[in-house]
Amino acid sequence: AAKAAGRNRFRIFDEGLRGHLEMRRDGERDLSHALAENGLAVWFQPIFGEGGTRIAGLEALVRWHHPVHGWIPPGEIVAAAARSGLSESLLRFILEQVCGAMQTLRADGIRDVRVAMNVSPREMGQLPVDEIVLDRLRALGLSPALLEIEITEETALDIEAVQHKLLALSGAGIRVALDDFGTGYSSLASLRQLSAGRVKIDRSLVTGLSASDDKRGLVQAVLGLGRSLGLEVVAEGIETADDLASLRHLGCPFFQGYHLGRPVPADQALRQVLARRTDAA
Ligand code: C2E
Ligand code: MG
Ligand code: MG
Ligand code: MG
Repeated sequence: AAKAAGRNRFRIFDEGLRGHLEMRRDGERDLSHALAENGLAVWFQPIFGEGGTRIAGLEALVRWHHPVHGWIPPGEIVAAAARSGLSESLLRFILEQVCGAMQTLRADGIRDVRVAMNVSPREMGQLPVDEIVLDRLRALGLSPALLEIEITEETALDIEAVQHKLLALSGAGIRVALDDFGTGYSSLASLRQLSAGRVKIDRSLVTGLSASDDKRGLVQAVLGLGRSLGLEVVAEGIETADDLASLRHLGCPFFQGYHLGRPVPADQALRQVLARRTDAA
């Protein structure tokens, strides 16, 4: 029986692996179609300030519903783009949707909601992200002060290639946020080298913090770091009212997570921003 089970397990694994490889090949071919034919979308998740009541920002998150394979995780999309030489097209596509959201906000008279986009370490290292982004903002007459670029600390591994780009971006007024803070080798040096003005505490430290002294201690330390270095701190991955309450109690200034708002299509996210305004007014 054990042998049969072992064989079955192997067969299942084998099929899973084959499926994965097929999906990879399809993925690379289909991604270029998706990019060309509006198969990709950018959704937005709200970031809240002021105790979790006011929307202070929107984070752009790429979405792809593949006709056969269903929802493809963003990491896979970014990796498939890299393998098939589509990284710049993908970056430009996302930037376009982000600029569209910034234009809509401006048209609605909203001048204090920043839009954030994620840029992978590879994209930051290999593409002229600073030129691409700044040229586009200039062409559309959009203020760099309303854009944020989220990077992760692996970006620091190629510091020679990225430092001048990050300086150009932050010098122009775009805020650089260090995402997933607290997961790896997050050092004070990398915060400085990367011109970060904001840190986002990783979900792994936030989810369940109300029930964990260890997590609370770590989050408290990051908040202290933020205060002493003049960095804004965002907690991401807030899934419960208890975690939100603990974060408020610790003095966390910005909040993001399913408990407060999930990623939604652009029109819906923009409606939420407006609705929150009229509520408060
Ligand atoms: P991230 O930038 O740290 O984004 C946060 C991720 O956590 C998003 O997943 C979001 O949907 C999810 N999330 C937000 N709140 C909660 C919560 O309360 N609980 C849980 N369990 N999850 C939550 P998503 O959209 O799947 O993105 C995953 C990662 O893929 C992102 O992590 C980011 O690193 C990358 N990514 C997403 N969009 C893009 C993009 O346009 N370009 C690049 N380069 N990377 C992207
Ligand atoms: Mg992010
Ligand atoms: Mg993150
Ligand atoms: Mg993450």
